[in-house]
Amino acid sequence: TPVLAIAGVGKTFAGGTVALQATDLLVQENDFITILGPSGCGKSTLLRIVAGLDTPSGGAVALDGHPVAGPGADRGMVFQSYTLFPWLTVRDNVCFGLREKGLPLDEQHAIAHRFLAKVGLTGFERHYPKQLSGGMQQRTALARALANDPRILLMDEPFGALDHQTRELMQELLLGIWEDERKTVLFVTHDIDEAIVMANRVVVMSARPGRIKCDLAVPLAHPRH
Ligand code: ADP
Ligand code: ADP
Repeated sequence: TPVLAIAGVGKTFAGGTVALQATDLLVQENDFITILGPSGCGKSTLLRIVAGLDTPSGGAVALDGHPVAGPGADRGMVFQSYTLFPWLTVRDNVCFGLREKGLPLDEQHAIAHRFLAKVGLTGFERHYPKQLSGGMQQRTALARALANDPRILLMDEPFGALDHQTRELMQELLLGIWEDERKTVLFVTHDIDEAIVMANRVVVMSARPGRIKCDLAVPLAHPRH
């Protein structure tokens, strides 16, 4: 069974905009798939439907063979705009989903500690998001998504708001985590370099109307240590 099965998923918005045409995509365990396409081609719409944040007009999405209905901690979402809770510390942002699950506080903190170390934020537990740079805020958002041990990470232009150098650092970081944690990733970008460097598969979407144009296997050229 694929981790994620997208079958015939389409989306027409209320005004009549066809954001996505019947789209099929199978994501296998440990895939790192980038979805590449110009602005407005329906990348976010597809990811939001997988996340359960939007309902498709047709078709079906299944996670481990079970139909997806609404959002869930089994899909970890990372947005371009970080979307941290500004009134919570870095640690409490990371613990948010764990608290919802009712995990004991010491276990929440141990998990937060582990993932904040993973993203290089040890020592920043008690900081608030506004005290951090954009890159550090996105590291926090990544730690928060990972802390819930999702079956798949859904990332929507996660590094789009960062400067070039920070962006490359974050790409390195994410690739390292993908390898260490054996994660499955679906990653949306309109940057061709990023799409190719990050993925073992690149899915290219056409500008209009939204549909998959091609699906390429990529040899990981990335030097890993
Ligand atoms: P959103 O879900 O992004 O707020 P809209 O406000 O456009 O989108 O749509 C409201 C609801 O109607 C959503 O659940 C959406 O999936 C559904 N919807 C919109 N357009 C259509 C359509 N053409 N066919 C079926 N359902 C639709
Ligand atoms: P991308 O992520 O590739 O930039 P989107 O999925 O955001 O593309 O948008 C695809 C198309 O759907 C665009 O034409 C966009 O304007 C339209 N669209 C996105 N969200 C909505 C919405 N809530 N209501 C109506 N149209 C929308």
